[in-house]
Amino acid sequence: MIHYSLVCRQTHEFDGWFASSAAFDQQVASGLVECPVCADRGITRGLMAPNVPAKSNRRADVVAVAPSAPEPAQSVAVAGAAIPDQVRSALQKIRAEIERNADYVGPDFADEARRIHNGESDRRAIYGEATPEQAEALADDGIAVAQIPWVSRADS
Ligand SMILES: [Zn+2]
Repeated sequence: MIHYSLVCRQTHEFDGWFASSAAFDQQVASGLVECPVCADRGITRGLMAPNVPAKSNRRADVVAVAPSAPEPAQSVAVAGAAIPDQVRSALQKIRAEIERNADYVGPDFADEARRIHNGESDRRAIYGEATPEQAEALADDGIAVAQIPWVSRADS
């Protein structure tokens, strides 16, 4: 199997596995390869470079719980400016729990969440950064993600 980094005409990047480069060419020509985000079939091979940062530099901290997780991730939303002490304390506990139980994957979050969803990576909880657009695309694909306000640690 050959692993290709693929990109659609809307510049969504995703991964594909093919028996050979000829099989890849043939499947694309037959319209069998489509973008998981927008279903575009104008697929070309992307650069085999490490993930480049997403176009947007607006980043939110996102945690994903793999589909096998017993409970769905809880989403928390509070006004950023004045977080009440009790809420801050609760968020610090959430952060500590996430750091203890999930793997940090940094900006690779969206790709890794999709790999887990597709069974290409070990099922586990992960956390890292994603743009709002990436988080929305994951949610559209039925991948559970939650955005958590990332408060400073209790001991810092
Ligand atoms: Zn696309």
